[in-house]
Amino acid sequence: MSTKAIQPKLKMARLHGQPEIFFSIQGEGKSLGTPSVFVRSSLCNLHCIWCDTDYTWNWAGTRFPHVNDNKPGYQKFDKKVWIAECAVAEVAAEVVKHPCLNVILTGGEPMLQQPAFTALMFELRKQNPGYSFEVETNGTLMPEESFDAAIDQYNVSPKLENSNNPRKLREKPAVYRFFASSPKAHFKFVVATPTDLQEVFELIRLYNIDKGKIWLMPEGSGRQALARKRKWLVEVCKSNGFRYTDRLHVQIWGSKKGV
Ligand code: SF4
Repeated sequence: MSTKAIQPKLKMARLHGQPEIFFSIQGEGKSLGTPSVFVRSSLCNLHCIWCDTDYTWNWAGTRFPHVNDNKPGYQKFDKKVWIAECAVAEVAAEVVKHPCLNVILTGGEPMLQQPAFTALMFELRKQNPGYSFEVETNGTLMPEESFDAAIDQYNVSPKLENSNNPRKLREKPAVYRFFASSPKAHFKFVVATPTDLQEVFELIRLYNIDKGKIWLMPEGSGRQALARKRKWLVEVCKSNGFRYTDRLHVQIWGSKKGV
């Protein structure tokens, strides 16, 4: 594969004027606590009402509702300001500045840009074969063959009714079945209420998802919201054989972005 021939560009999220690439620790799920470089792409095919990366999709001129709509000063985002179009080589050059070989492709929905991310993984492994890659995905897009071959871990976070996305958009049966059978995939369900939990049980049953691949995480972008649900959700995990994950980055830094 030649990255020169394809020359794909990545539509990156922009934060503080720069493409959003930062070195931190994985705050959720299977690799919680692992030092990682985060590469955040722009664009999403869903529009979760509580999304905390709404600067990747909640564009001016669209009508998607968001929990912050009534907050003083909240405005939808200007695509021209919040998307940074970058050459793959440019993104790779930024990633290699960090002393870390675990890279997390996140968004938005990074799997909307599989050819460009495949080229990025190829480019980074060319520089150091020790790189490993995780992708954070909403589980609605089927992996392309070359992307699937390159990625090491899928962190799949299916969206529930509470996201305000219509079921036909958020639940793609063939894609769920693919991830349920992929040894690289793990499921992280964000749970706020017992109703959410019933929906999770239904998805697990419908798609025959192995318990060992399931993490439950409390919903909340602040410490108090997480604390209110934590004990209840830990008990649910104990009695069903699921794993529990907190949101470590929220515990450490609150709702700050780019950390
Ligand atoms: S899928 Fe993820 S990035 Fe997209 S709107 Fe939902 S929470 Fe936000």
